[in-house]
Amino acid sequence: MVAASHPGSLWSRTAPPSPSCPPLAGDARADVAIVGGGFLGVSAALHLAQSGATVVLLDAGDIGAGGSGRNGGQVIPGIKKTRAVLATKFGGEWADRLAALGDGTAARVCRLIETHDIACDLDRRGWIRAAHAAPAMRDVEALAEELRGRGQDVELLSRDEIAARSGTPVYVGGMHDKRAAGINPLAYVRGLAAAAQRFGAHVHANSPARRLSRTATGWRVESDQGAVQADQVVLATGAYSDGLWPGLARSFIGVQSAQIASRPLSENLRAAVMPSRAVLSDTRKLANYYRVDLAGRFIIGGRGPLGDAPEPATLVALQRAACERFPMLADVEWEHAWAGRIDMTLDELPHLCVPAPGVTSLVGFNGRGIALATTLGAVIANRLSGGRDPSLDFPETTLSTVPFHALRAPALRAAVAWYRLRDALGFSG
Ligand SMILES: Cc1cc2nc3c(=O)[nH]c(=O)nc-3n(C[C@H](O)[C@H](O)[C@H](O)COP(=O)(O)OP(=O)(O)OC[C@H]3O[C@@H](n4cnc5c(N)ncnc54)[C@H](O)[C@@H]3O)c2cc1C
Repeated sequence: MVAASHPGSLWSRTAPPSPSCPPLAGDARADVAIVGGGFLGVSAALHLAQSGATVVLLDAGDIGAGGSGRNGGQVIPGIKKTRAVLATKFGGEWADRLAALGDGTAARVCRLIETHDIACDLDRRGWIRAAHAAPAMRDVEALAEELRGRGQDVELLSRDEIAARSGTPVYVGGMHDKRAAGINPLAYVRGLAAAAQRFGAHVHANSPARRLSRTATGWRVESDQGAVQADQVVLATGAYSDGLWPGLARSFIGVQSAQIASRPLSENLRAAVMPSRAVLSDTRKLANYYRVDLAGRFIIGGRGPLGDAPEPATLVALQRAACERFPMLADVEWEHAWAGRIDMTLDELPHLCVPAPGVTSLVGFNGRGIALATTLGAVIANRLSGGRDPSLDFPETTLSTVPFHALRAPALRAAVAWYRLRDALGFSG
C-alpha cells in the first residue's frame, strides 16, 4: 500500500490542492467501481461518467499518490514500440490501429486540459529524443521516418541542431517530436479528478480496496469504512498494485525512477540550458530524462533501485548526470528530490486483461504513462459502455506472471548491468 503523499516532490509543493475526495463511508452502488486514482483510473472515471455510467473510484492514498503524482511531467505520445514490432505481436491490422491510437495520445491530454480548464502549467514545446551514440541514432532515424510517414510532426536533428536546442554537445543527433508537452503531473491528475466529479463520478481518497468478492449481481469492493457493489470493476493500480487481485502485482517488474529539481535558474542559465524548452529523454536503456519547467527549474530523472524512497547514491548520480551535460549547473542548489515506481512488462507494452468476467485490469506503462494511461482510460470507458468508438479498441492479453518474479531484485541487478553494457556500446533502449 502506498503512502498518502510523496514527500519531497516538486509537484506536491506546487500543484493546486486536490479536490475534496472524502473516504468511502457506508454502502455504495455503481455501474463501475475503479480501484486506483492515477491517470488511468481517473481518466476512466471521467470518460465513464461522461457516458452516463455511475462510477465510484477508490484510491488507497491521495489522488495521484502513485506514479501519476510523482513523474517527470513529460507528455510523450506513442506506444513505445514501432509499428513493425506491434505487427509481429498483434498482426498488421492491430499494428495500424495501435500506432494511430498512440499518435493521438499527447493531443488527447492537451485537449482534456483545455476542455476542463486544468491549471497544470501545460507547455507545448515538444520532446527531444536524444541519441547517445551512432547505433542508437539509426533507431531514431527509423522512428522519425515511420512517424513522418504517418504525417506526424517530427523533425530529425543533426549533432549541431540538437546541441543548439538542448544546450549540450553530448548527443550525436536526435528527433524533435513537436506533438509532446510538459506539465505539472500532480496538478493534471487532480484536475482530471475534479472534472470527473463534475460529471458525477464519486471519487474517494484514503480508501484502500482491501477485498474483492464476486456477488450474485457483480462484484463487491470492500474498503475500511465502506463497500461498493458494482457490475464491473477496473483495476487501475499500476506499479502500486498490491495483493487485491492475485497475480496482478507479479505481472510486471516494479522499478524505481528518481528525480531532483533545482531552484529556478538565473536568466543566464535559462538561456543556456535547454533553450528550446522541449522536454528531453535520451536513448539509453538506463535513460536520463530532463526539462526546464515554466518557473525555470531544471528537473532531471533516471533509474534507481527498488522501492519509493530515493537513495543518496541515486541522487548523487543524477547531479553528476546533470553536470556532465551542463557543467554550468555545478553550483546550482537542488531543492527537491523524490522517487516513484514504474511498472515494467517484458514486452514493454501495457497489458489489458479480463482476469474474470466483470473485472478489467491494465498495467504496464513502462515509464511512459501520462499520455498513454490517459488514453487507455478512455479505452476502458469505451469497452465498458458498449465499445461504440472503434478508434479506441485495444487488444486483450492474458494475465500472466513474469517468470522468476520472486527473484526480481537479483534479476534487476543483472539486467541493469546488461543494460549498462548495451548503453556503453551505443544501442538504444
Ligand atoms: C519518477 C517517475 C517519473 C516518470 N516520468 C514520466 C514522464 O515524464 N512521462 C510519462 O509519460 N510517464 C512517466 N512516468 C510513468 C507514469 O507516471 C506512469 O506510467 C503513470 O502514472 C501510471 O498511471 P496509473 O494510473 O497506471 O498508475 P498510478 O498513478 O501509479 O496509480 C495507481 C494508484 O492505485 C492506488 N492503489 C494501489 N492499490 C490500491 C488498492 N488496493 N486500493 C486503492 N487504491 C490502490 C495507488 O494508491 C495509486 O494512486 C514516470 C513514473 C515515475 C515513477
